[in-house]
Amino acid sequence: MAAESANQIASPLTQPVTVVWGVGAERAKLLARLNIFTVEDLLLHKPRRYEDRRKFLAIRELRAKESATVRGKIVAAGIKRWKKGTRAMFECVFDDGTALLHCRWWQAQPWMEDYFAVNREFVVFGKVESLRPRTIDHPETELVEPEDDEFIHVNRIAPIHPLTEGLTARVMRTLVWRALEKYEADITNPWEAGGVSPGAPSETETRRARSDAPYQLPSRANSVRMIQFPEEFSDVEIARRRLALDEFVVLQKQIRERRKKFETNAQALPAGGDNHLIKPFLSALGFKLTDAQTRVLREIRADMRGEHPMRRLLQGDVGSGKTAVAACAALMALESGFNVALMAPTEILAEQHFRNFEKWFKPLGVKVELQTGNRKTSNIQHPTSNTQLGARAEHTTRDTQHVSLFVGTHALLTGGFEIPNLGLVIIDEQHKFGVAQREQLVRKGRYPHLLVMTATPIPRTLGLTLYGELDFSAIDELPPGRGRVKTLVRAADKLPKVWEFVRGKLAAGRQAYVVYPRVEDTGESGIKAVTKEFANLAKLLAPHRVALLHGRLSGREKEQVMADFRSGRAQVLLATSLIEVGVDVPNATLMLIENAEMFGLAQLHQLRGRIGRGAHESYCILISDAGDPITRVRLKVLEQTTDGFKIAEEDLKLRGPGELLGREQSGMPNFRFGDLVEDLDLIKQAREIVTQSP
Ligand code: ADP
Ligand code: MG
Repeated sequence: MAAESANQIASPLTQPVTVVWGVGAERAKLLARLNIFTVEDLLLHKPRRYEDRRKFLAIRELRAKESATVRGKIVAAGIKRWKKGTRAMFECVFDDGTALLHCRWWQAQPWMEDYFAVNREFVVFGKVESLRPRTIDHPETELVEPEDDEFIHVNRIAPIHPLTEGLTARVMRTLVWRALEKYEADITNPWEAGGVSPGAPSETETRRARSDAPYQLPSRANSVRMIQFPEEFSDVEIARRRLALDEFVVLQKQIRERRKKFETNAQALPAGGDNHLIKPFLSALGFKLTDAQTRVLREIRADMRGEHPMRRLLQGDVGSGKTAVAACAALMALESGFNVALMAPTEILAEQHFRNFEKWFKPLGVKVELQTGNRKTSNIQHPTSNTQLGARAEHTTRDTQHVSLFVGTHALLTGGFEIPNLGLVIIDEQHKFGVAQREQLVRKGRYPHLLVMTATPIPRTLGLTLYGELDFSAIDELPPGRGRVKTLVRAADKLPKVWEFVRGKLAAGRQAYVVYPRVEDTGESGIKAVTKEFANLAKLLAPHRVALLHGRLSGREKEQVMADFRSGRAQVLLATSLIEVGVDVPNATLMLIENAEMFGLAQLHQLRGRIGRGAHESYCILISDAGDPITRVRLKVLEQTTDGFKIAEEDLKLRGPGELLGREQSGMPNFRFGDLVEDLDLIKQAREIVTQSP
């Protein structure tokens, strides 16, 4: 036991893989290509499939178009040439005593003639091409060497690992086997490692019994053996779950450590406010906050009055009213005498927020400044002189003369200028910011409170792993009196009717968004680009005015276009998915999206969130000619539900977490065994284990 705790400091498993017998410099290079550098990497090199070699199928029993594993001796082999000898194919014939099997490689390699020598015995795996004669093209093969190690390679369920050129399945399996023989005893439970002092042996024993038992899982060491060399096929999933759980535990521990460190290092600024701004703000707002908004604000206030700086994720479906919540949070900090930064992912959104907040805050005597690459309403003073710092300590809670709300894109805090006396940072539409960017803010050193807002309904699995170090609030209720949004999926041949419908609504005074996937024509047939279609659409919808918005316009141009649309000078906004987040024009009640199959479900849901914001009934029309049924099923999900969570779960299943969160999302943990879609129960268990451990 003493040895074990010493191992946790420098585990033999972290040694370079060259300590495994048979791995020299050459092989180490090959293994590195597979990201195997240490003994542990080798032990955890997950087989990509398994072959049941306990009992081979007779070649005579092979069935056409099915994959199978057989074992046979070579009775004939050779190169066949054709096309005047420019092309060469290698063929060999295996015999297992029941029938012959022809295997063909369409590109003969120089080494094949020596390797596939008559009388040698092989295990052969592949899909049967035809039965007359029985043929498999490009099978996977493995030499059976009579003299050694039958028990590793045959007469068992054999793992087939991901390989690289120069490393055969047999060699890889041998190396894993050797590593396991030598280091199995060193594989310890990571739930205990790190941060926990080893204690007396008996204590460690108890702890293990307590944490392992409720989950009825095999030990980690056993699991590694089971996933590498299973006795039964069912072993594989049991072991995978244990190893996945370990990954989630390690991640949750890191999250907890980070959080702990933060809490011991960071003193909160007292920013709960005294209501002297919020009160008049709310009475001028023109609507009553929903219960959900009020509840969230209570949570935020408790944080901002608390001991540690707030780190909170606010999730609310599109249109749930996050902006008003952000405004109240900002006012709390402003009331307390601190500056506030509000960051949006795009300039359009920053400008929109600027306009909104200026309208709201000016009457309260609070300055609002805009700071984007495109426009500046002020120059933020450069870092804090001593007098300012001194002044900060003496702030009275009513000193709001000199505090401002700064609105901008992320350049607001990463662009080199510094906002003095910063009490609160609000990040809108978080999913557009990478984890790295968020960390950068957290590391600002002065520990302002942080409120992160997102409309992407992050499925719970992802939330717990990606945002585990943030507290969580949800606005789970939409403001009352909203028109409904009807969603319809239609084929492109229905477009004439659809345009007729759109014209009718425009004539009645409503406005419309039209969304295409591309900015410029890329030559892909049938995929529409906004710049190319603009003139057509303007003609089609005349006399109603169409405005064009896409990412290649300058900031000023974009601003002008949005102003035209907001004021109603333009009734139609032709755009790319640029308008996906946050844009708020209540009179727009139509959303027409062509080539809808090219967007993710969550993205379509976001786009749809631009409408249904006023009292009028709204329509989202998705045009798609995608023939494949899966796409149709996907789009139908949107017809059937407006529940952002359901849609996000569906999207996660169909497209994976990377797509859902956007490519910028760099901090995505990479799991060998864990699966963010399937393993929600394990992620929960991991959290329990970590919270219960000392
Ligand atoms: P999101 O959560 O998508 O950012 P917004 O904050 O843009 O949503 O709010 C959408 C619309 O709903 C805005 O026009 C806003 O003024 C309005 N709104 C917000 N809260 C309420 C409420 N409690 N009652 C009525 N309307 C509200
Ligand atoms: Mg918003």
